[in-house]
Amino acid sequence: MRLVLLGPPGAGKGTQAGALASFYAIPHIATGDIFRMNVRQETPLGSEAKAYMERGDLVPDEVVIGMVMDRLGAPDCSVGFLLDGFPRTVPQALALEDALTEDGRGLHFVLRFVLPDDEVVRRLASRRELEGRGDDAEGVVRHRLDEYHSKTEPLEFFYWERGILRDVEAVGQVETVTQRALKVLDEFREAQDA
Ligand code: AMP
Repeated sequence: MRLVLLGPPGAGKGTQAGALASFYAIPHIATGDIFRMNVRQETPLGSEAKAYMERGDLVPDEVVIGMVMDRLGAPDCSVGFLLDGFPRTVPQALALEDALTEDGRGLHFVLRFVLPDDEVVRRLASRRELEGRGDDAEGVVRHRLDEYHSKTEPLEFFYWERGILRDVEAVGQVETVTQRALKVLDEFREAQDA
């Protein structure tokens, strides 16, 4: 299973990604987590990404693409993978598509977690209290949302055109949303097999 999750910051992608990846027994690749780990460990990649992350800007495509391509080449990805937070721009999506086509392994599904902006801002305010993530500060959240609308939303059309995009309503309890996502994937698989 090769899966991509889309959705605004705060839509619960990370939590859902963890549940879906363990359900399908595939690696969960979260670019934000990889960047945060590199920032903590003060690696060259971390120092390259840090300022962008603090401002809520996207890290430049060439940096992210190189990092993800390396990761997808690892042996554990031969059974599939779940990408959480990548792609976030059209050039990233094209790079992913090219790399997968070259290897003869396309994406199966793209799930979009749908959540209104005011709910995003509310959820991130409570995550700020709980986790103390610097980029959850209110002004930065607004900017991350703007980045999402302008640079990541065009991917919805990109994947809709390819016939692999499906929506999951992200409002509700974590388990309810996971069940919805699994149901959507199941129905989608049945339709594709038919
Ligand atoms: P996330 O944890 O997915 O919200 O990502 C946190 C931050 O990491 C983002 O605000 C970006 O600065 C950076 N980041 C993560 N994934 C990407 C990506 N695919 N493209 C560019 N920047 C990214």
